[in-house]
Amino acid sequence: MDFELSEQHKMLADAVYDFMVKEIEPIAEQIDREDRLPDGIWKRLGDLGWMGVTVPEEYGGSGMDYLAQCLCLEQMSRICPALSLSCHAHSNLCCDNLYRNGTEAQRQKYLPALCSGEKLGALALTEPNAGSDAVGIQMRARKDGDTYLLNGTKTFITNGTEAGAMIVYAKTEPDRGAKGITAFIVEPGWQGDFTARHLEKMGERGSPTAELTFDDYCVPAEHILGGLNQGVNVMMGGLDMERVAGTGWTLGMAERALELSLKYAKERTQFGQSIGQFQLIQDKLVEMYVGIESARLLMYRAASLAQTSERGGKGAEINKLAAAALLLAGQVATQSVLHAVQIHGGYSYMLDFPVNRLLRDVKLGEIGAGTTEIRKMIIARELLRD
Ligand SMILES: Cc1cc2nc3c(=O)[nH]c(=O)nc-3n(C[C@H](O)[C@H](O)[C@H](O)COP(=O)(O)OP(=O)(O)OC[C@H]3O[C@@H](n4cnc5c(N)ncnc54)[C@H](O)[C@@H]3O)c2cc1C
Repeated sequence: MDFELSEQHKMLADAVYDFMVKEIEPIAEQIDREDRLPDGIWKRLGDLGWMGVTVPEEYGGSGMDYLAQCLCLEQMSRICPALSLSCHAHSNLCCDNLYRNGTEAQRQKYLPALCSGEKLGALALTEPNAGSDAVGIQMRARKDGDTYLLNGTKTFITNGTEAGAMIVYAKTEPDRGAKGITAFIVEPGWQGDFTARHLEKMGERGSPTAELTFDDYCVPAEHILGGLNQGVNVMMGGLDMERVAGTGWTLGMAERALELSLKYAKERTQFGQSIGQFQLIQDKLVEMYVGIESARLLMYRAASLAQTSERGGKGAEINKLAAAALLLAGQVATQSVLHAVQIHGGYSYMLDFPVNRLLRDVKLGEIGAGTTEIRKMIIARELLRD
């Protein structure tokens, strides 16, 4: 058992972190304030090879593994969780899913432009009345000649206002429940009505989030992803990979909380000594460190299993482990940021302190890709399975 990262993984992590420190950290507060990422960022990340990390090189990706995807998002998240979130939705939720489930024609049509950053990707599952109950979606796709007509609303969709390609889940046979769901690859600008409304958020600002409305929106039948009425397999396998990669995004925020806290605990003096000398402050630092190290090990293990597992799927070990990795990382990140806020005292309340932004960003780590409660339900279901 080797706990060391390979040279290739280390180089990737260092390169991403260096880029983030040099090019994004100086504008991180501005991104939050204006709720906007810099122009040209996707092309820039595409040139660096971070838009299609797990997509093979023949389709324009970097041909790396899920651990590389985790490391990339983790390092981005230390500086700008919002950029990391959007990159996650693009490279994992959209590109990785499209590669794993797409036909050869679909891969060739979409992946090169997505991996280069020419197009931004998204995945639209959640609806106003179907969040945790994902198979309860109400969006309909009705066959009409060679096309399907999409009708319905998706909400909270990361990158939704800017996406040039989206994976959209809809019911093709509503009476069949989960067995009547189909995934489609959809672009804006086709025949029919499509609107993307920008949603204002408290955190992860800069990462665009949208409500999408489709009204008799025509999607060519060859844009079915993973087979007619097979959408639940695409969805469940995709959620496993989303949880693994999302662990990196979440963990990066916890690490940042510890970094900021260590710095502040050394600098800030009260009662004639640095606050880091007080054992009650040390207790928080230690708790953060132990949580982060534990979550990181579970992330490595989940990423390794994701690499060898057969697309996740019901009953697979990866269901349990991916949910466990994200469950732990989410809880550790929230607790670490709360500790960081406490360590920064009243200054944490001031908008120009980065720990303030982290507090608004971090809670999403316990909500997206299945909430803390849903992650626990998945783990319990798998533990109790015969
Ligand atoms: C910023 C942001 C970005 C997002 N990006 C995307 C995206 O790109 N694509 C996408 O499809 N979705 C996206 N989402 C949606 C996200 O996945 C959902 O918000 C999440 O799955 C929870 O659904 P919900 O918000 O409808 O909450 P609900 O499902 O309504 O849950 C409300 C509460 O009830 C609890 N609960 C629900 N069911 C149970 C149960 N059976 N037992 C116990 N407790 C339960 C939940 O844990 C939660 O605490 C995003 C959300 C946000 C906020």
